[in-house]
Amino acid sequence: MLRVLKPLSGLSPKQHSLGQLQSRYRYRCHPKNDGGGDGIWKTEEKKDGYLQLHKNKGQHLLTNQRILDSIVRKSAIKPTDTVLEIGPGTGNLTLKLLEAAHRVVAVELDKRMVEVLQKRVAESGVQDRLTVICKDALKAEFPPFDLVVANIPYGISSPLVAKLVYGARPFRSATLLLQKEFARRLLAKPGDSEFNRLAVNVNLVADVEFVMDVSKREFVPCPKVDSSVVTIRPKAEVPNVDLNEWWAFTKACFCKKNKTLGATFKQKKKVMELLGMSKLAGSNGESKDYISSTDNDDDEGESDEEEFSPSPCSEMGASSFKEKLMGVLKSADFEDKRPSKLSNEELLHLLALFNQAGIYFHDQSKSRNAENESFTVAYS
Ligand code: SAH
Repeated sequence: MLRVLKPLSGLSPKQHSLGQLQSRYRYRCHPKNDGGGDGIWKTEEKKDGYLQLHKNKGQHLLTNQRILDSIVRKSAIKPTDTVLEIGPGTGNLTLKLLEAAHRVVAVELDKRMVEVLQKRVAESGVQDRLTVICKDALKAEFPPFDLVVANIPYGISSPLVAKLVYGARPFRSATLLLQKEFARRLLAKPGDSEFNRLAVNVNLVADVEFVMDVSKREFVPCPKVDSSVVTIRPKAEVPNVDLNEWWAFTKACFCKKNKTLGATFKQKKKVMELLGMSKLAGSNGESKDYISSTDNDDDEGESDEEEFSPSPCSEMGASSFKEKLMGVLKSADFEDKRPSKLSNEELLHLLALFNQAGIYFHDQSKSRNAENESFTVAYS
């Protein structure tokens, strides 16, 4: 049986405004999926046809006018701004953005959504100021923009934030509606239970500010999770660090974020991995000093494979390399510290000490062609 969620007649005042904005749509549950799960939801057009909403594409439409207005207000859009919107859906936010901005560039994966969006925008007579890119936002090349304002599909939060903050396009701020837990992690500070590599990597290049919480009840269909709005502002000055090296370093440190760094870097697997990496860096001429001067191993001519095989020779290399790792940690009192409690300044300092000692975390030979890959691995 169909459960009509918000019949257009007999709406409360809040739902009336939804009715006005969404003049031609009402929402109801797919007969086979009455309620939760990853089912399909339908927006039903009054006259012809209907549009299915797919939860697996993150299709949860924000329908509360007051919240949409508030997001636009908090975004501090100037009349001359070009705003990038990721996942405009049927255009609830887009119409508001077009009232405030000079131009909106909307990136939407779903062609059916694009059709509805373009129709609604045309009905408002502002289609000249809307550019639609019908592509996956993670793959699309963004044109220049001043701001990002979006209720994004939550499934792409990490790589999308990485693409924005580490991307080539400069921008003033990104005001994003995110899953509440994800927003908490972005906002976390060293010592907070949610603090992890995501916050560390974003905070290197941007400041994140909490804007407001949004209840799941404000979306159609109602998702399982609550949301929060945050504003991300790229920092004016970014530390001078090789980003590939930084990402690989934070990945190594935060693989067990509550372990001491001493315990993390003592693990045989980690030692062997870093030994291999540092040898590669050495063979590229970037550092030759990966084994302490007291080490008598002659590793010249070893293949990568041999480096990771537990031959007596590599065992010896590994043990002196491990001593070297511990020496660096001890030299600045990091051995008993936990990454989840360290500031970015402390982490940058530790990475500099490792690199000075010829210890590297990223395969330097991959740096040149790994830009896109880096976006995705930054938070993986
Ligand atoms: N912003 C709208 C809709 C949010 S739902 C509102 O607030 O009402 C999220 C939208 O993102 C959906 O329209 C979905 O089709 C779109 N989407 C999902 N994955 C995407 C991707 N990888 N790139 C671009 N858009 C995507």
